[in-house]
Amino acid sequence: MVILKTPEEIEQMKAAGRIVATCHKEIANMIKPGITTQEINDYVDRRIQELGGIPYTKGFNGYQYATCASVNDVIAHGFPSKKPLKNGDIVTIDIVAKCNGWVGDSGWCYAVGAVSDEAQKLMDVTRECLYIGIERAVVGNRIGDVMHAVQTHAQKHGFSVVRELAAHGVGREMHEEPTYIHIGTPGKGFRLKAGMVLTIEPMINAGTYRMTIDDDGWTARTADGKLSAQYEHTIAITEQGPIVLTEQAGV
Ligand code: MG
Repeated sequence: MVILKTPEEIEQMKAAGRIVATCHKEIANMIKPGITTQEINDYVDRRIQELGGIPYTKGFNGYQYATCASVNDVIAHGFPSKKPLKNGDIVTIDIVAKCNGWVGDSGWCYAVGAVSDEAQKLMDVTRECLYIGIERAVVGNRIGDVMHAVQTHAQKHGFSVVRELAAHGVGREMHEEPTYIHIGTPGKGFRLKAGMVLTIEPMINAGTYRMTIDDDGWTARTADGKLSAQYEHTIAITEQGPIVLTEQAGV
């Protein structure tokens, strides 16, 4: 069942979104060659709590960290590690906080030092896919309209869209209905309604869209070892258009 949020509840959800946005703004300045994703994780874990939130992913289905840290060919759900990031790596840090009973969820891909032209292009196109999706997330559109635009943009640049990991509704829990992927057909799928709070979180690969899962049961990698990038926001669908809850003025 899709749980629609009232305008007042959407206002309340901004607090969790602001915490996640603040963490991303701060770690953007920390990410450089030599830092470890464990250090970034520990910083985020502490900051979420200082800012009045709860690191939601810790303990979620046995997951032990406040962040996911997905480096290079890792698509999503990578564990933070003590291995230093290297010049030229790309890393997606995914952060989920709960505050006042509501969840905010945002992942962002960062360049470590100077990255290759291909990596930069992948990051740029993936970020464009996110905002193309947000722009089309308006009342009356179907999810197929939104995701067709996302898919078309990625493929136009020679990239592929991950199909085995889904986006989701967000509310009092991180994963609510509906779930959906970032490919679609215009006019198909559920219709967007005011009060839906959803993630748009395209995972875009330089090569094949196919993926494998490591023996740890979490780490999703590209099947061909090529790069993957992801950008994610939590958005609220309103009659006035989408509100990005995890990207706020002044943060
Ligand atoms: Mg996320």
